[in-house]
Amino acid sequence: MKNSTFKIKAYRAQFIEELTPIYDVGEAESFFYLILEEKHQLKRIDMALHPDLVFSEAELVVWNSILEQLKQEIPIQYLLGKTSFYGLDFEVNDTVLIPRPETEELVEWILESQKSKGESQKIRVLDIGTGSGCIAISLAKNLPFAQVFAIDVSEKALATAQKNAQNNAVNVTFINQNILEVVSLSVVEGLDQQFDIIVSNPPYVRNLEKEEIKKNVLDNEPHLALFVEDTDALIFYKKIAELAQKNLRPNGKLYFEINQYLGKEMVDLLERMNFKNIELRKDIYGNDRMISCHCEE
Ligand code: GLN
Repeated sequence: MKNSTFKIKAYRAQFIEELTPIYDVGEAESFFYLILEEKHQLKRIDMALHPDLVFSEAELVVWNSILEQLKQEIPIQYLLGKTSFYGLDFEVNDTVLIPRPETEELVEWILESQKSKGESQKIRVLDIGTGSGCIAISLAKNLPFAQVFAIDVSEKALATAQKNAQNNAVNVTFINQNILEVVSLSVVEGLDQQFDIIVSNPPYVRNLEKEEIKKNVLDNEPHLALFVEDTDALIFYKKIAELAQKNLRPNGKLYFEINQYLGKEMVDLLERMNFKNIELRKDIYGNDRMISCHCEE
């Protein structure tokens, strides 16, 4: 029996049409080309050059399954199992948050301030709540002389982060710990020396903000990495800042990604704890999104 084939061009039209009640045309089209590249190593130009390209029946089954999942608003990054962050490829799955552009801005900030000090410095960096490893790995890649450590409470997330470090050819020491249970970093094996940089993008979305969270995030991304109690929204920041007071080198720097509504509260917290040079920054969307400060000299 002859196997049927299906013209990719015709399928594209159908794919976009079926998705446009949920996504806008540009987004639906970009999904189409992302999948085409990932599954068939074909680019947009290839379709223009070869308008008669076809899918096999088996390929069509795969495409239809992805289409159905996109209709259920499962993020494309999870469906493809990958995304890019700070110019690097990262594997992602539902045990880790999908790296966000705001977090790239945090990495950019850290690298910028490091530049002025010279990139060849043998600094020690710690990322707390590393998830996919995006912060730790992109710092390791761009600070080749740094020794980078990363902690996460989730073993599954760490397995993904480990793979990402390997795929990006960097050396990061991963440690499975619940930061809220760490009494002092000095008692954690491997972390008993001072750090030059401590960075964290901990869970910070309050339950009261759940309504604002998009369905695709709420239904698919790990709540463990997202949510905190309304009554103790800064729990991770307090804990990490306390640990940093003891384990940051004099003049070492602490960096956080923060909840956009809690910029002032974060400044107050760090001031009360005697941190210096507190700087609050907005992200590309104009929201208070990151903060840095120095440990006292
Ligand atoms: N920025 C993420 C979001 O809005 C939240 C990240 C976090 O909680 N650390 O979904």
